[in-house]
Amino acid sequence: MVTVSTATAVWRRDSVKGEKRDLWTAMKRGFRCRCPRCGEGKLFCAFLKVDNNCSVCGLDYTPHRADDLPAYLVIVIVGHILVPVILWIETDYAPPVWLQLSIYLPLTLFASLALLQPVKGAVVGFQWALRMHGFDENAPSEIPPV
Ligand SMILES: [Zn+2]
Repeated sequence: MVTVSTATAVWRRDSVKGEKRDLWTAMKRGFRCRCPRCGEGKLFCAFLKVDNNCSVCGLDYTPHRADDLPAYLVIVIVGHILVPVILWIETDYAPPVWLQLSIYLPLTLFASLALLQPVKGAVVGFQWALRMHGFDENAPSEIPPV
């Protein structure tokens, strides 16, 4: 005898609308390196290592992978701030090259490192608010986690 099983749950966009998630609030909380849901728990367990879950509300962070997006965003932000300033100083004052390099290189490095963690937190908050996350390959069904 052959038994055919049918899917008992069908995923629809309506089925994940249980919890209201505000995009800007989640991104601001992530930018402050806090949990995008409760705003209290820490988001990172190391400089750029997102913790497994929130220590306060228990939100699972593991499906939220920012990958290289924070680095690209930091390059865009720092570049759009520093390049116009550098061009303005060069055209109006033309300081010696050694002086420019001794200021711009450490400034660029410091600004990039200072922005990397908050931008990554904002990206994780963005992903959480829009329910963007990868599928768990070991999950028993095709229903995405919420
Ligand atoms: Zn939390």
